[in-house]
Amino acid sequence: MPGLLALHILVSGLVQGVGFRPYVHLVAKSLGLAGFVRNSGGSEVEIWVEGGEEKVLEFLRRVALEVPEPAEVESVHVEVVSPVGYRDFTIERSSSSVRLRSMIPPDFGICDDCLREVLDPGDRRYLYPLNSCVWCGPRYSMMYGVPYDRERTAMRDFPLCSECLAEYGDLGNRRRYHAQGISCPRCGPRVRLYTRDWEEVGVADPVSEAAKLIDEGYIVGVKGVGGYHIACLASDDGVVAELRRRKRRPTKPFAVMVLNVEVAGRLVELSEEGVRLLRSPQRPIVLLPKREGSPVSRYVSPGMSHEGVFLPYTALHYLLLSRLRDGFAVMTSGNVSDEPMCYDEDCARTKLSRVVDFFLVHDRVIVNRVDDSVVRFTAGRPLLLRRGRGYAPRWVRIPVKLEREVVALGADMHSAPAVAFEDKVVLAQYIGELVNGDTVAEFLKYLNLLMGVYSVRPEEAVYVVDKHPRYVSRSVGVELGRASGRVEEVQHHVAHVLSTVADRRLTEERFIGLAMDGVGYGDDGAIWGCEVLYVDGARYERVGRLSYVTVTGTDRDVEYPARVLASYLIRLMGEDGVREFFRKRGLLKALPGGEFELEVVLGRVRRGGTGTSSLGRLLDSISVLLGVALRREYEGSPAIALEEAAFGGRLLAEVEQPVVRVGEVVEVDSTPLLASLLELLDTRSTKDLAYSAQYYIGRAIGRAIAYSARGRRVGRLVPAGGGAAVNDIVVRGVVDELSSEGLELVLPREVPPNDGGIALGQVYWVALREELGALR
Ligand SMILES: [Zn+2]
Ligand SMILES: [Zn+2]
Repeated sequence: MPGLLALHILVSGLVQGVGFRPYVHLVAKSLGLAGFVRNSGGSEVEIWVEGGEEKVLEFLRRVALEVPEPAEVESVHVEVVSPVGYRDFTIERSSSSVRLRSMIPPDFGICDDCLREVLDPGDRRYLYPLNSCVWCGPRYSMMYGVPYDRERTAMRDFPLCSECLAEYGDLGNRRRYHAQGISCPRCGPRVRLYTRDWEEVGVADPVSEAAKLIDEGYIVGVKGVGGYHIACLASDDGVVAELRRRKRRPTKPFAVMVLNVEVAGRLVELSEEGVRLLRSPQRPIVLLPKREGSPVSRYVSPGMSHEGVFLPYTALHYLLLSRLRDGFAVMTSGNVSDEPMCYDEDCARTKLSRVVDFFLVHDRVIVNRVDDSVVRFTAGRPLLLRRGRGYAPRWVRIPVKLEREVVALGADMHSAPAVAFEDKVVLAQYIGELVNGDTVAEFLKYLNLLMGVYSVRPEEAVYVVDKHPRYVSRSVGVELGRASGRVEEVQHHVAHVLSTVADRRLTEERFIGLAMDGVGYGDDGAIWGCEVLYVDGARYERVGRLSYVTVTGTDRDVEYPARVLASYLIRLMGEDGVREFFRKRGLLKALPGGEFELEVVLGRVRRGGTGTSSLGRLLDSISVLLGVALRREYEGSPAIALEEAAFGGRLLAEVEQPVVRVGEVVEVDSTPLLASLLELLDTRSTKDLAYSAQYYIGRAIGRAIAYSARGRRVGRLVPAGGGAAVNDIVVRGVVDELSSEGLELVLPREVPPNDGGIALGQVYWVALREELGALR
């Protein structure tokens, strides 16, 4: 028939669970076209459309280019087909066949429209704590599988009432037409209040009652989107101290939820970018400088210059916060010690009842645990510290196409595995340190989930692991790798650098990269941690590093950084000098074994020990030397305390810079720096010394990079990664030094620079090896 056109269209991207099908339906109807739209098993959307040629092309344009947020179209696959004579345009039942693979939607913070309904006494959703629409609400956290339809989410337990059903079927209702997760006070999940012994407290308004209890000083467990929180007053020293006692967490900072940006402005210094992040649908915890005179108790984040604040991301949180006299509250993850956050009632009852007095609970199942995401600013740019709710499991596009499917196991610290196919890397949410059975079980759960959803065939995939022989993630990968016989290993810091290369889609073939990190298993068996790498395709060479210091090489070096300080000081003052210094400065109390432990360290070092170039250990040592932190309480805590102690510090000219020696490998030797710190210890402020030490270390690292780049045909950009690459002062030092050489440091945007993003670099390693034909 002349002038008639039919198209079969596959759309991938963020297109399920974001109102995309209703939008397509509306466009088709408005243009008078026929056909269907449906979700497909790979979480892409399939469209059949037919009608007048011009109208169909207009349809294609609007569907591909004008989709409303939060939907995002990444690729459109169009095929011209013969019209079959559809009469109408419909939303069809989802099909489970996979054509294109598409993105699992992350959880979205509540939108303004939904919040307005909850606050409107005339609306039927007035005060409804679980309100959501096609643009907002939980997604990944409540999905059992794809495609994203109500029957594959935790909302399947809540059949729509007649009113919701009418909204669901009403083409004119832009926010609820075919929205899978909607509900109302009649048909949706309910919120209840329980005592710590799980006896229901019968009240008409559990949310207001919980707020009253918090105001009275009680500690309340709150079930949210991706897990449980623990909430209490943040303004009361006694209450916060009690929470610390019950949680057995002496100093690790708690996050503070604030009602709105106005309240946040009383607690922290808000930048434009900070406000944008706080308000974004991801609603991360954002670390911002504390305001002078902030009403938050100093026990919330003792010794820190920054506070972690975030906005309510559900109506439940909003209502709770709006009823508190402060308008803000501690909202920390509901876990005990190193275990993962609780996300079901069993866990809450058995574990959290020791910590909280009451529970505020809704009865929607949390299918997938998703922790709050954490963002900080480094050298003026936002960096993800923890990639969880709102960000995961969005995929990251890399600038090469993979031939095979890849499963990357990441590392053990901030574990987050990834699956990859085509040019897409799907990174799991932050799972936590692989130190106990629960975390390892979670690690496997989400790895299997992603492999299943994205149809990664175990017997075809390449498995990529860290070189560290003792990593749990590595042994999991080696075990899974038996299915295909393809296991690749990649050095930790190479993966860190490649993660940034992939994240920023850098295409230079040769470059100098930088890893600033705590611990990684080095190619020479030493403990690496500050490495300048020359990368050429999938070949690399370590061309610079911090000078090795001899340490005992056990985990206690990380736990008790005074041991590493002793190692550093031997060079300056000999063993007797170290003994005397430790006694005189009261540093023996930083070692649980006191004098005896110091002798063990000195003896091991004398006999050879292990070399380390770890920047984390150097910063930890300086932290002990300056008396900022004596031991590690949580990952990276001595170095974090050092950075926080330096906030607002000045650069002292009398602090010596580390020397940079050019040899076969360029070395940064911090001995002169430490010597000058020893001299100035009692006459200069800790703040200025801490600032100067970190900044000068950064400058020296920058010089090592500049020397390494000379005589090599490398690009201007220097990709960097690693757990210490978030340190604002060190990074500024590196950036300043590099800019005088015409070089630019590049950090990741979509993934954390720490181990939470390392799986991306592991995948990229495989991609580069494939390109070279170096893969088995
Ligand atoms: Zn909404
Ligand atoms: Zn309803």
